[in-house]
Parts: sequence; C-alpha cells; structure tokens
Amino acid sequence: MKVKVINSYTEQEETINLGLIQRLKLKLLGHAKIGERRYPGWRGRLPFYVVRCEEHGLFIDYPHGYSRFFSCPKCKEAEENEMS
Ligand SMILES: [Zn+2]
Repeated sequence: MKVKVINSYTEQEETINLGLIQRLKLKLLGHAKIGERRYPGWRGRLPFYVVRCEEHGLFIDYPHGYSRFFSCPKCKEAEENEMS
C-alpha cells in the first residue's frame, strides 16, 4: 500500500510503500521501521520509521535522543508558530 508521508528530516512529502506487517505494527505500536537511510553529512545510516501522529497522520523520522522519540514535523511547526 502506497502512502504519502512527510519526512521530518527533509520536511518534504514523499510516497512510501507499506507492507502488511508494517501496517499492523503501525496500528498496534504507532510506528514501524521502514529501513535505514543516510543523508548527506551524516556519519552513518539511521533507522527510519513511519509514525502516526494523532493529529496530523503519518510522517517518517528517525529516533531522537536517549528516549528515542519521534517528532512530527507539523506539531513542530505548530509549536514554532505559537512561540513567535
Ligand atoms: Zn503532529
């Protein structure tokens, strides 16, 4: 199944292909691994996940920090707008 997601790192929209297992994990856990990526300037590859935001739908991101959280680009945007 092809789905449109926002890439939290590049902030661009892209289309990814989700298999059955990934769709199940997304439903049960709220996130599912979609593979590893390496962007210019990165030392190595990082695991990327498709993640569901309750408010904004699907986005892809890699785990951040010690708690390995994901951050929805649209939530970030909304926070920045509130602060300015
Ligand atoms: Zn969000």
